[in-house]
Amino acid sequence: MIIILKKGAPKTEVDELCRGIEAQNIIINEVRGEHTTILGLIGDTHKIDMEAIQAQEIVESVQRVQEPYKGVNRKFHPEDTVISVGNTKIGDGNVAVIAGPCSIETEEQIVDTCMKVKEAGANLLRGGAFKPRTSPYSFQGLGGEGLKLFLKAKKATGLPIVTELMSLAHLDLFADVDVIQVGARNMQNFEMLKELGKCNKPILLKRGLSSTIEELLMSAEYIFAGGNTNVILCERGIRTFETQTRNTLDISAVPVIKSLSHLPVVIDPSHATGKYELVEPMSMAAVAAGADGLIIEVHNNPQKALCDGAQSLTPKHFSACVKKCSSIASVMGKTVGTQQ
Ligand code: PEP
Ligand code: MN
Repeated sequence: MIIILKKGAPKTEVDELCRGIEAQNIIINEVRGEHTTILGLIGDTHKIDMEAIQAQEIVESVQRVQEPYKGVNRKFHPEDTVISVGNTKIGDGNVAVIAGPCSIETEEQIVDTCMKVKEAGANLLRGGAFKPRTSPYSFQGLGGEGLKLFLKAKKATGLPIVTELMSLAHLDLFADVDVIQVGARNMQNFEMLKELGKCNKPILLKRGLSSTIEELLMSAEYIFAGGNTNVILCERGIRTFETQTRNTLDISAVPVIKSLSHLPVVIDPSHATGKYELVEPMSMAAVAAGADGLIIEVHNNPQKALCDGAQSLTPKHFSACVKKCSSIASVMGKTVGTQQ
């Protein structure tokens, strides 16, 4: 349920209304906008007397929220949420670019690739240290040693880093990580989501391989329920019957999610397609569809990559891709990466 208050409602009367509602075991999420204040009620609101609330002088309107997600619901927070990471804003007309290799392999590979993506306009760096691989015999990532190498790239570039957490047992190693990624395979690892709700770092939450948009939003709600509202949603392609691409990029997820939620949406064209030649067109489509960011795999030598080389751009191709996306964004009054 949401209660929209009248402009200029006196604080004492608002407090009194809130105390009465909280006494019924309801959590209130207050959002003060420029024009209105919205009280979002979370809990069993069935017993709340809507008519009695509507009758109050300070109340503009009362609405029941049918969707199971509340805190992430746009009805609770009509304005877009903009997430700040270092000097970068994700949203608010800035299409943030997160780029780097699938996996951290060597110091030379990660530092060189990261320097090059910075040069091409990336705002944040990506790189996997703990890798979710289908086969136990595939390269599993360098683990904690990989994170140390990634911190060298962070230092060399001055850019924030994004990397995937595969197990809560590793959380202590993530102290200097700027954005924690929850991969597609862990989207419904509810214990992990609950724990990340207690941390104060932004979370990049990827859509599960076969998850609906509502399930993605419910997973984001888990993080919100713990108190962490810094959530970035990521569409990375879903399983369909099509075999020409690794997954099917659900580009309509961008406007759909944005209509349902206030959270920023990032597109991963690399895992969505599995083919480097499709990354640029899908990145452009993502920008045109209104995405707030792109997460793109780039490797300084894709042919030698230990993981996902076929979908990795060279730094040169990445640079061209960012420029093309900038042209699209400029039509929309937006910017891409650090390109103006
Ligand atoms: C990744 O980004 O490194 C990754 C494994 O992606 P996903 O979880 O979307 O498959
Ligand atoms: Mn990958």
